[in-house]
Amino acid sequence: MPEGDTVWRAARELNAALAGRTLTRCDIRVPKFATVDFTGETVQNVVARGKHLLIRVGGDDGWTIHSHLKMEGLWHIYAKGAKWRRPAFKARCILETPDAAAVGFELGFLKVLPRSGEEEAVGYLGPDLLGPDWDPEEALRRLSSQPDRPIGLALLDQRNLAGIGNVYRCELCFLAGAHPLTPVAEVKNLPRMVTLAKKLLEANKARSTRATTGNLRGDTLWVYGREHRGCLRCGTRVTLEQLGDNELELRDLYYCPYCQPASTLAAE
Ligand SMILES: [Zn+2]
Repeated sequence: MPEGDTVWRAARELNAALAGRTLTRCDIRVPKFATVDFTGETVQNVVARGKHLLIRVGGDDGWTIHSHLKMEGLWHIYAKGAKWRRPAFKARCILETPDAAAVGFELGFLKVLPRSGEEEAVGYLGPDLLGPDWDPEEALRRLSSQPDRPIGLALLDQRNLAGIGNVYRCELCFLAGAHPLTPVAEVKNLPRMVTLAKKLLEANKARSTRATTGNLRGDTLWVYGREHRGCLRCGTRVTLEQLGDNELELRDLYYCPYCQPASTLAAE
């Protein structure tokens, strides 16, 4: 599952390869949009909105190729004629310019919208941690609007703030010393958590190694994926459970039961 920083980087690379270029090939391999062909059109730009990618084609009244990586998706950019590093049958979108090809593999979804439909498609998202509209006050307001919701779910809900995936939700709970089931209203320093989310995504957005520990070479994460190695801070066995709800699909949740005690939960 992608995090906002991965999508931000993909947008930046796609923008560098496509913006201002005229498409010499456009092959969309999604049944509903298979007849869409933007060959001859110019790509205006490519932007990330939370974990969504918007490839804008034509002028301001043009079209947007809206995609989401979901679990397995990724975009590759190849020099013209270079061999793909993934099997062709997994390609969902192929955009070629005179000198490069951008190929989206196994995209979680792909739609083509009129540009005017962007707001409807992604307007529900909360403030984008890596976007030009980042607004920590608004993110806090949205998070706090459901005070009883577990923080481990509220952070993943893209309507609150956009860009946090499963890795950051686990790591942010750890860094706040908060059990993931702690109700939002009982998280000790929610503003600090929001500030930290921004700081971590900013720090990681331009690099290929994602670290929340400040260590890029060794142990990059405190609890995520450490169910067999223990908490990086105290060595306690990391708990691995599934956490989601009716609105968010179940995802692997990692936390340290010692560093993130369920104090208020246990008292109930
Ligand atoms: Zn610990």
